[in-house]
Amino acid sequence: MLARTPDAPAGVKGISLFIVPKLLVNADGTLGKRNDVHCASIEHKLGIHASPTAVLIFGEKDGAIGYLVGEENRGLEYMFIMMNAARFAVGLEGVAVSDRAYQLALAYAKERVQSRDLSGGAKAVPIIRQPDVRRMLMNMKAQTEAMRALAYVVAAAMDIAHSDPDAALRAKHQAFADMMIPVVKGWSTETCIELASTGIQVHGGMGYVEETGAAQLLRDARITTIYEGTTAIQSNDLVGRKLAREGGATAKLVIAAMRVVEAELAQTPGEDMAAIRAGLADGIKAVEDCVTWIVAAYVTDIKAVHAGSVPFLKLMGIVCGGWQMARAALVSHKRLAAKNGDAAFYQAKIATARFYSDHVLAQAPGLRNTVVRGAAGVMALSEEQF
Ligand SMILES: Cc1cc2nc3c(=O)[nH]c(=O)nc-3n(C[C@H](O)[C@H](O)[C@H](O)COP(=O)(O)OP(=O)(O)OC[C@H]3O[C@@H](n4cnc5c(N)ncnc54)[C@H](O)[C@@H]3O)c2cc1C
Repeated sequence: MLARTPDAPAGVKGISLFIVPKLLVNADGTLGKRNDVHCASIEHKLGIHASPTAVLIFGEKDGAIGYLVGEENRGLEYMFIMMNAARFAVGLEGVAVSDRAYQLALAYAKERVQSRDLSGGAKAVPIIRQPDVRRMLMNMKAQTEAMRALAYVVAAAMDIAHSDPDAALRAKHQAFADMMIPVVKGWSTETCIELASTGIQVHGGMGYVEETGAAQLLRDARITTIYEGTTAIQSNDLVGRKLAREGGATAKLVIAAMRVVEAELAQTPGEDMAAIRAGLADGIKAVEDCVTWIVAAYVTDIKAVHAGSVPFLKLMGIVCGGWQMARAALVSHKRLAAKNGDAAFYQAKIATARFYSDHVLAQAPGLRNTVVRGAAGVMALSEEQF
């Protein structure tokens, strides 16, 4: 636990890290008496009911005993070692909730019979034949695949940063992982709330009824944008420590890497590839405009940057996710051309990347405008005018 020693400096820099055991340990290593720390109550929460959150009371009777971990006043620094891993893990939680929401919605859409097919026929058909249901399912599938792919790419960067023998390569991948962890955390979790909600919509009225399990996913999803740092805290980290402080150097490397994929798409024939390239090109341009603007405005008008930091985080997630979908489409194209592997799987990958480009990457230019022009409206009112 994090706590302050009596003479600690003010602010977060004075916090220390402690282990506060439930049972104290005797000098000979045997278990000793109960430490004076007790659970006062269990919180009643919106979701994650299998993970109890408790109010603990320390030192009501004899005084609780805690053991200092490492050096005094360095607690927050130590906790951040855990925090990066935890933030990434909560991003994966967003991917997992999204995928489960998709699985439930897909099964229901194939089973639920309602309304006739638009192309004719007298009988009602499974709702998966309705274009809007397909749009919702594709939105869930495409965004979940993009979030998962981006999380895996960042996980691989963390592995390389940890164990590659080449120090320069380790540093490069560490910088990439550091910049992307708030994106994986913030984007995957904000999106999982949206997708869990879409999952309910696919179920219609039954989604609102607990029996299907779709509603639980929305309740469970809601914490993910809050714990281990809210989305705003992730986005502050992204625009400040991860972007402005290094003049956008790592972001520019990412932009260059995305342009390589864009160029490869331009060399690859087919209408789908052209559409994927167009969406990615608009996305890259949007990110580039924002990075240039953020680096400059961070010095002249920091509040304007922070007014658009969450939309920028979303933009980064959407475009970096699109980059991974485009890579997957290129690999699929090659495998199909070589008649190598599961053709239906690769065709679906290309179609899903195309959907992602037309429906998700299409948001990028709008987000760019929000980031670059949106601060005036955010900051205009006085507190009394709210
Ligand atoms: C179920 C659950 C489990 C938890 N588990 C743990 C745990 O195990 N260990 C632990 O230490 N903590 C835990 N927490 C605490 C959790 O990490 C915090 O609730 C979370 O980080 C948000 O902090 P806060 O509640 O103080 O919100 P606040 O900081 O009060 O934030 C309120 C709002 O203000 C915004 N805001 C605040 N500061 C800024 C800023 N600088 N810029 C922009 N916006 C800002 C936030 O984004 C948010 O929208 C848990 C919380 C819950 C609900």
